[in-house]
Amino acid sequence: METATSSTGMDMGSELQRELNPLENARLQFEEAAQRLKLDPNFVQIIKEPRRATIVKLPVHMDDGSFRVFTGYRVQHSIIRGPAKGGIRFHPDVTLEEVMALAAWMTWKCAVVGIPFGGGKGGIACDPTKMSRGELERLTRRYTADLIDVIGPESDVPAPDVNTNQQTMAWIMDTYSMHARHTVTSVVTGKPLELGGSAGRREATGRGVLFVVREAAKKLGMSLKGAKVAVQGFGNVGSVAAELLAKDGALIVAVSDVHGGVANPKGLHLPTLLRHVEAKKTVAHFPGGTPVEGKNILEIPCDILIPAALENQITNKNAGRVSARIIAEGANGPTTHQADKILNKAGVMVIPDILANSGGVTVSYFEWVQDRQGYFWREDEVNQRLEQIMVQAFHDVTHMAEEHKVSLRVAAFMLAIKRVVDAIQLRGVYA
Ligand code: NAD
Repeated sequence: METATSSTGMDMGSELQRELNPLENARLQFEEAAQRLKLDPNFVQIIKEPRRATIVKLPVHMDDGSFRVFTGYRVQHSIIRGPAKGGIRFHPDVTLEEVMALAAWMTWKCAVVGIPFGGGKGGIACDPTKMSRGELERLTRRYTADLIDVIGPESDVPAPDVNTNQQTMAWIMDTYSMHARHTVTSVVTGKPLELGGSAGRREATGRGVLFVVREAAKKLGMSLKGAKVAVQGFGNVGSVAAELLAKDGALIVAVSDVHGGVANPKGLHLPTLLRHVEAKKTVAHFPGGTPVEGKNILEIPCDILIPAALENQITNKNAGRVSARIIAEGANGPTTHQADKILNKAGVMVIPDILANSGGVTVSYFEWVQDRQGYFWREDEVNQRLEQIMVQAFHDVTHMAEEHKVSLRVAAFMLAIKRVVDAIQLRGVYA
């Protein structure tokens, strides 16, 4: 790898001198996996670039009477294995390039868990913190109307992402349905329960983390009872993963969020911690432990580390000081390429993001299935089906890793790419 030239013509050696951003990391991971699979370059060409990228200019009536024109994007990286699937983000920094890279990431995430979706992503360059609810609703509806021929239950199914939520999905569903002249709940996932959302969706990503951690612990002969766990990020993913692991008997020895962290080598009392978070909106200053500053949580003595906050947290600067035997990537891209090499050398089992945090998109798939059937499952049925898929995916990835003597990350990419390429070969290329 060190001296290879990537298929974009860049010298990977010089790229590896610096820490890469998560999207550059994902591109390297794709290329490493594609090389190991010895893929026919003809197929690599087909899956390297998105199949369709749409740019829309969205005039929106602002509250002060003016119009502003926003730029929106929707990219379908692949629809080979099913409709494109992926979130929509509202952020000032959204660019076509970022959306294209994130759409590809979704293709691999859906393929690694074997759900019948391709990959997509969307975004609008806007600052939602400076917009009223009415302005956001008009922007969302105009975006949906302009993409009416692009999205759809059979073609491209959006979901929430950064700064979008259940309400945004409800507006998209309503706008799409008004044009269709009937209610089409399955056009988006992540909807409110009242509008065809799925039971268990909120907890799905954290629960998925639990399922893969359980399998990883079994593989290493480690019992979860008494295992020490540190969790960076105590939001939707981190808090649920911590709570469920504690229920399995693990000791949650440290947690952190953007305001600070708290540690207790004997284990934090989760029910009390959750009450503290509900009242204070942060884990900081929890009286049941001692404070932990910033990124120090990643170096706390523990058996299992769950980065569930941001990208680029485990880097070449701190990877050597990680004590955990298992890292389950709840967040997207928390480990840099260089850190990955250090951890692999040290024998740490890193469960990569495209596997570890795929519980969310898996239950989105369940939501789409339930909407299409008009028949809704109980939460325990959702959780049981999620477990089956996550456990199977974990074993598929570890099998690939053992067969090719590669890390779980490379194996997850190999498995995903192979599934997409197999589908292309079976379908044939219509040319
Ligand atoms: P969230 O907003 O609910 O929670 C994020 C948490 O991280 C918060 O507790 C926040 O305080 C904390 N945080 C932010 N900056 C921090 C810092 N510098 N140090 C420590 N903690 C910090 O978000 P979420 O939905 O839990 O998502 C977390 C990560 O998981 C993101 O990378 C997201 O892309 C990824 N992810 C989420 C889902 C999902 O279904 N929610 C699915 C796949 C991946």
